[in-house]
Amino acid sequence: MSMIADRLLAVKPSATLAVTTKAKELKAQGVDVIDLGVGEPDFPTPQHICDEAKAALDRGETKYVAVAGTPALRKAICDKLKRENNLDYTPDEITVNCGGKGTLFNIIMATVNPKDEVIIPAPYWVSYPDMVRIAEGTPVFVVGKEETGFKITPEDLEKAITPKTKWFIINSPSNPSGAAYTPDELRALADVLKRHPHVWIISDEIYEHIVYDNFKSASIAAVAPELKDRTLTVNGLAKSFSMTGWRVGYAAGPAEVIKAANKIQSQSTSHAVSFCQSAGVIALNSPMDFLKERNDIFKQRRDMVVEKLNAIAGITCRVPEGAFYLYPSIAGCIGKKTPDGKEIKTDTDFVTYLLETQGVAVVPGVAFGLSPYFRLSYATATELLEKACERIKVFCSSLTA
Ligand code: PLP
Repeated sequence: MSMIADRLLAVKPSATLAVTTKAKELKAQGVDVIDLGVGEPDFPTPQHICDEAKAALDRGETKYVAVAGTPALRKAICDKLKRENNLDYTPDEITVNCGGKGTLFNIIMATVNPKDEVIIPAPYWVSYPDMVRIAEGTPVFVVGKEETGFKITPEDLEKAITPKTKWFIINSPSNPSGAAYTPDELRALADVLKRHPHVWIISDEIYEHIVYDNFKSASIAAVAPELKDRTLTVNGLAKSFSMTGWRVGYAAGPAEVIKAANKIQSQSTSHAVSFCQSAGVIALNSPMDFLKERNDIFKQRRDMVVEKLNAIAGITCRVPEGAFYLYPSIAGCIGKKTPDGKEIKTDTDFVTYLLETQGVAVVPGVAFGLSPYFRLSYATATELLEKACERIKVFCSSLTA
């Protein structure tokens, strides 16, 4: 008899973390690896937020706090949602958790029954399907094709809905494609959802602030207020505030579901770290002046890498609206051979040989449910990105038909 629970049989460990681990191993062996697999900004947490965490420690905020999150942080979240997203919530409609990941995990565990279906647009963030599988639900994938900017259409959504659909997860701007839905596009999806009142919506808005070219992120619950009483708006401090290690995420939604999610939390992690929540209050309540400069740097890198990738035979790359990822197609490399005769049959082959021969770590599209692509994070130093593009070019030039 296996010691491992059956529910884990279909679950894969995080593919993105696996690439980072392999890249770190190679680095430890002395190999010159450029890791473009990372999913975190390369900027430090702003100083005023760090200072507040230190002050909170000095004030002795080192004890257990409320499961749902401290009253001060939940209030700051309500204020933020009103100010930035035009959404009205009260503190009992907010749950604070160990990262956006913890938030999503709690919500899914609290609501998904075996065989319930959860619609997930692909390419998707790697954790959604596996969280659904842990809850013994069924992920249902809808491909957002490159031709439609990696976004799904209302027709695609309509076709995927069945009587068993429990959730529709929308992630805009998206990890891994960087694609973001305009308010009109959200409205069109909302019109479909309006006709199916049994379908609830998870809107993962963790990259909302990381957008370019004057794109404005929108919340589906604000664009379609008639869906608000079945929408969970999920967010976190990790990406906007460069606070990935602090592990503070949250959701806003109907109190009944928030309460159920808190029940999971009360029996697992108890709550997000006390002094990180204190720092979170300051993060949310302070001006975000640092963001413009950081987004300008991200944008310069995005434009530079897109241009260089599009100049490489075999690769094409769309310009994304947000986040800090690119999702280039390698359709033009499939079927070609490396100098030592290995055929590139899949995007996994492509990224494996690229890492082995050129020391560039990226994540294969198969991990995100759409091939043949790879995900590249440009949240790394510009010089390294330039060097990585050069290496990708050398790799692609070495391929023969
Ligand atoms: N949602 C998306 C789309 C993400 O890319 C991530 C992190 O990579 C998360 C949620 C969770 O972030 P965290 O748990 O660090 O808050």
